[in-house]
Amino acid sequence: MSLASQSLCSLKRQLQSGEISSRDIVEDVIDQIESRNQSIGAFLSFDAKSALEAAQHADLSLPLGGLPIGIKDNINVNGEPCTCGSKFLENAYTAPYDATAIQKLRQAGAIPFGRANLDEFAMGSSTENSALQITQNPSAPGHIPGGSSGGSAAAVAGNLIPATLGSDTGGSIRQPASHCGVVGLKPSYGRVSRYGLVAFGSSLDQIGPLTHTVEDSALLLNAIAGFDPRDSTSLNEKVPDYTEGLDQGVAGLKLGLPKEYFTEGIDSGVRERIETAAKTLEAQGAELVEISLPHTEYAIATYYIIAPAEASSNLSRFDGVRYGNRSENPQDMLELYNQSRAKGFGSEVKRRIILGTYVLSSGYYDAYYLRAQKVRTLIRQDFQNAFEKVDAILTPVAPEPAPKMGSATEDPLKHYLADIFTLSANLAGICGISVPLSPLNNLPVGLQILGPHLGEKTILRCARSIEISQTSVD
Ligand code: GLN
Repeated sequence: MSLASQSLCSLKRQLQSGEISSRDIVEDVIDQIESRNQSIGAFLSFDAKSALEAAQHADLSLPLGGLPIGIKDNINVNGEPCTCGSKFLENAYTAPYDATAIQKLRQAGAIPFGRANLDEFAMGSSTENSALQITQNPSAPGHIPGGSSGGSAAAVAGNLIPATLGSDTGGSIRQPASHCGVVGLKPSYGRVSRYGLVAFGSSLDQIGPLTHTVEDSALLLNAIAGFDPRDSTSLNEKVPDYTEGLDQGVAGLKLGLPKEYFTEGIDSGVRERIETAAKTLEAQGAELVEISLPHTEYAIATYYIIAPAEASSNLSRFDGVRYGNRSENPQDMLELYNQSRAKGFGSEVKRRIILGTYVLSSGYYDAYYLRAQKVRTLIRQDFQNAFEKVDAILTPVAPEPAPKMGSATEDPLKHYLADIFTLSANLAGICGISVPLSPLNNLPVGLQILGPHLGEKTILRCARSIEISQTSVD
């Protein structure tokens, strides 16, 4: 078993006993990427030299001492490119600083390594919107890896690196994790600093881990969570030890099954997997409760107003002057902006900017943006009501397993609709995790466990119970 394919916890034990060195791991990661990344396409680039150097000085007494972690290419790592999967930033921007999550990784001893592919500016669910590279699903050849953190999920599923960071605005960690068969956690809004994450939807974005195991997910969350004065939405709340109590089991927990999530449109095999997982948890002492999240049907419309609105504002900084490739020979300033943006952005990003500008424009603001904000409050209240009755909520991550490559790009709306199970968590600011169940016709299927705001410990504990039951099935 290659070192790159192992869990962080297992590598940590081997490092501490002296069986292996950090350099051994980093060298293996480099070997794996050099020999197989060309076919998987998970990484856009990597800096072998600085990683090997960092491995040389690794402090193994730290929680992530000497462990390489892959980074989605929309999170700034000092001295490395940060393309956001866009032609606009390709060869045009080198990060001049570390994002707070990266700084925290380094403080925990980890080695940020490589730039993982993504849908351009994290807009999409297949990684096919990357302007730079195709990413394959290593667990399901010929199928999309999901997105937008498709490179981060494929890097772990393809055993190129033990763990990665992704970002989740409407499902971009959980959905690729589900499609690739790895564990993906979206922390509660404010739990992890967004400083240094290239903003998409600032009221929705969170950075989180993609890993082989639930324990690794907890270990990484320990490192990146916590208050940051440089992010005004970061929470000044104590960070518990997420690895503690993972094996407590689910006895006594109340788990909700939202009736609106189990209607038509969901693949019968996926539905059956989720129901079996729920029964497994029931057999372990959890109580299953039918709940209602009555505003679920408005989540897609609400998200696809709010996220593009925020994106249209956030992306205005890419003008070819301060950031991004500049058009050649413009006649005047306006032409410089127009041409740089027309050339730099791909079609999905343009679609979102146009949508977002429209819903914010005077005359339409009240009808769209303001109304969407009100519905967002109702969606948040749905969850608040539900969490008065239950400790966590069980749902599918996606209505079907990973579609074939190319099948979704023709119809963006179909793509948007498939986000139905993940968007609400971002609108409500709550946490969620995707944990692998047994595959369906060789295609991975994830279970989503949603928890209340700052309820990460509970969802990790439930996910761990599922993970143990899966291992015993295999
Ligand atoms: N699929 C959603 C979108 O396209 C979510 C993306 C994300 O979470 N970054 O907006």
